Amino acid sequence: MNNKVTILGIPFDNMTRKEFLSVLYKRMEDKEKTFLVTANPEIVMFAKSNEDYFKLLLEADFIAPDGIGVVRAAKTLNTPIKERVPGFELMLGLLELANMEGKRVYFIGAKEDVLNLTIENVKKEWPHIEIAGYHHGYFDHDDPEKIQMVKEANADIVLVAFGFPRQEEWIKKYLNEVEHGIAVGVGGSFDVISGKTKRAPFLVQRFHVEWLYRLIKQPSRYKRMSVLPLFLREIYKQKKRKSEI
Ligand code: UDP
Repeated sequence: MNNKVTILGIPFDNMTRKEFLSVLYKRMEDKEKTFLVTANPEIVMFAKSNEDYFKLLLEADFIAPDGIGVVRAAKTLNTPIKERVPGFELMLGLLELANMEGKRVYFIGAKEDVLNLTIENVKKEWPHIEIAGYHHGYFDHDDPEKIQMVKEANADIVLVAFGFPRQEEWIKKYLNEVEHGIAVGVGGSFDVISGKTKRAPFLVQRFHVEWLYRLIKQPSRYKRMSVLPLFLREIYKQKKRKSEI
């Protein structure tokens, strides 16, 4: 069911959202610890310029193709992937699973008020989730006591919302200390669950222009998004190199 598609050195797992969830569920049942990354073009480009982060991503157990940019890139390289697996939707899938199975979820990240609203909404939306604990994301991320605190909560799933690369760096340290559990960086997802940031309307999502919608709503994202053309340029370079081999 799974094979890898490498884009600018990052090995993406070629699975549908459903396949990801079924593999993750199995690992949760088997108590295997799991480092899940959802990587979009920004993350791929960041890894390209930062060797430590690049190596860190290679340590992930799974890398999901987050966003249409990654799917287009795979197609351009003649190694198509099945579908885009937006990080936000994968996280919702994990919360659904946790709700069905009464699993323990720890929520770490975002500002305190955002996190509190997130927890309120989680309790309403997924009442059977066992909230293993929660903590805002504004603390020294090198503090081992915080790792200990989350470890003691004995969660099946840890959602880390610090934004990249902070969240993946923290996850690595956390997973070094624990025996089991899925840990995944979820970026600004708590801002969405809390209702602070709205996701794009359905039609915008459907036509894969969520990035444009976000840009209009939040012009400060412009600098970060300007990475997309650079990403595409790198993809064409990789394609050219491949065709020369
Ligand atoms: N955040 C955090 N701790 C930090 C920096 C950021 O908890 O030290 C949170 C921030 O409040 C937001 C989330 O991380 O909820 C994502 O931040 P950002 O928009 O910078 O990242 P992205 O969504 O692009 O990954």
